Amino acid sequence: MSYVLALDEGTTSARAVLYNERGERLAVHAVPIDCAYPKPGWVEQDANAIWRAQSAAIHAVLGQWNLTPRDIAACGIANQRETTVVWDRKTGEPIAPAIVWQCRRTADFCGELAASPYAALIEKKTGLVIDAYFSGSKIRWILENVPQALARARDGEILFGTIDTWLIWKLTGGETHVTDYTNASRTMLMDLATGEWDRDMLGLFNVPPAMLPKIVPSSGRVTVTTGEFAGIPISGIAGDQQAALAGQACFRAGLSKNTYGTGCFALTHAGNRQPHSSHRLLGTRAASFDSKGSDDKATFAVEGSVFVAGAVIQWLRDSLGLITTAADSEPIAASVPDTGGVHFVPAFVGLGAPYWDPSARGVISGLTRSSSRAHIVRAALESIAFQSRELIDAMEADSGEPVVELRVDGGAAVNNFLMQFQADILGKPVVRPADVETTSLGAAYLAGIAEGIWSGTDQVETFWKVDRRFDPRMPADEREERMNAWCKAVSRARS
Ligand code: ADP
Repeated sequence: MSYVLALDEGTTSARAVLYNERGERLAVHAVPIDCAYPKPGWVEQDANAIWRAQSAAIHAVLGQWNLTPRDIAACGIANQRETTVVWDRKTGEPIAPAIVWQCRRTADFCGELAASPYAALIEKKTGLVIDAYFSGSKIRWILENVPQALARARDGEILFGTIDTWLIWKLTGGETHVTDYTNASRTMLMDLATGEWDRDMLGLFNVPPAMLPKIVPSSGRVTVTTGEFAGIPISGIAGDQQAALAGQACFRAGLSKNTYGTGCFALTHAGNRQPHSSHRLLGTRAASFDSKGSDDKATFAVEGSVFVAGAVIQWLRDSLGLITTAADSEPIAASVPDTGGVHFVPAFVGLGAPYWDPSARGVISGLTRSSSRAHIVRAALESIAFQSRELIDAMEADSGEPVVELRVDGGAAVNNFLMQFQADILGKPVVRPADVETTSLGAAYLAGIAEGIWSGTDQVETFWKVDRRFDPRMPADEREERMNAWCKAVSRARS
C-alpha cells in the first residue's frame, strides 16, 4: 500500500490528509490557527504557530493509521497564498509576524504604484492587478520596518518565503529554500511568462535577490524531510486555489472550477498560453505536471474572485438573525417561487472583477410591503450566483472560449438551491464532485504523480467522481432578463 500525504495549510487551520493509491481519503486532521488584528485592516499570524499546527496535524494523521514518516511515499503541500514570512537564516526565527494575504497595511503604497508610470509594466509582467494582497509590498514593509532588515537581507542573512517555502524549510531543518511557480506567481515579483524572479519588480519593491527561494515545478521531487518526520519525499507544491483546480481534475484549457467559501474563487485553466485579461482578471500559473525541472510546459490560469459570497449568509445569520444556521438558507429560499423583485448586492467591501470599485457598498433593492424574510434570503443566495456568472462572463470574453461546465466546491457548494440557480443563471451545467476536499486532493495528485504512484493526469482524472450535476432549466430569455435586473441593482451599489 502506498500512502500519499497532503498538507493543506489554510488561513484558519492547518490540515493533514492521508490518501491511499486509489486517491481515497483515509484520514484527516485539522488544527486551528489564530489570526491577530493589531490595527484596523491589519492581519497577522505567528509563523511558528503555523508550523506547530501543521506538525501536530501530521502527527495526528500518521497516528490514526499507525504509520511512521517512512511509510509515506509522497507528500504534497497546498497553502494559503501570498502570506509573507521573513526569517533569520541561522536561527530560523521569524523577524516579524507573518503578514497575511488579507492585510491591507500596504494599500497606500500599492495605490501610489498603481498611479505611477510603472503600473502598466507591473501588470503586464506579473499578470496581476496592483494590490496589497500580493507578497511584494508585504516584504518591502517588513524590510523597511524591522531595524537592519534590509542590510541583512542583502547579505543573505534573512530569507523570504510564502507558507509553502516556510513549511518545507522547517521540514528539512533549514536545508531547502524553495517555492513553486503557482506561489511565486502571487508575489508580484515573478515574470509570469518566464517563471523567473524579475529584476525590475525586485527593484520596484526593493527586495534583494539573496533572500528569495528557488522556484521549482509544482510536481516533481523537491527534497526529502529530515528531523522528526525524516524520510518523506516532498514532491508537490501549489497555492491553494491552483491545488483545488488540480483536485477538480481541471488539467486542460477551458476547464473551470469555482470555490464557494467566504468569497468565491473562480479559476479557468488556460493551457500553455499566457492569458492577458482586458477585464481585470488575474493571470496566474496553474500547477504544471513537469517533473524534469524545465518550464517549457508552463501552464496558466485565469482567476477572478468575488469578495463576499458565503459571507452574505453569515451576515444574515449573525447580524440580522434572519436564519439560525447557514443550511437554513436553502429551505427558506425554496419556500418562495422568486425574490418578488428584491435584489441584494452584498458589496460590503466594494466590488471586485469586473468592476473593481472599492468604494461600492451593499444594497438591498426592490423592497415592497409584501417583501418577506424568504425573499431577502433568496436574494442573498442568488447574489452569489449572479456575481459568479459575471466572473465567468469576463473569463469567456477574455479567452474567446466558452466555459463548458463549472466544477464546484467549498462550504456553500452543498446548497442545492444555490447550485441549481447557478446552473440556471449561467446556462451551463454545474457539477459537484463526490470529494469536495479538492485543495488537499490536488496537492496529493501533484506529489503522487511525481513519485510514480499515479501514471499522470489521465489516471487521476478517473478518480474524479460526480456527486451531483445541475443542468440549466431556465429559458434563455428569462436568464438574460434576470441578469439585466441584477446589473441594474449593481449600478445602485456603485460609488
Ligand atoms: P472558507 O474556506 O472561506 O472559510 P468554507 O469553504 O468553509 O469557507 O465555507 C464557509 C462559508 O460557506 C460560510 O461563509 C458559510 O456562510 C457558507 N455556507 C456554509 N454552508 C452553507 C449552506 N448550506 N448554504 C449557503 N452557504 C453556506
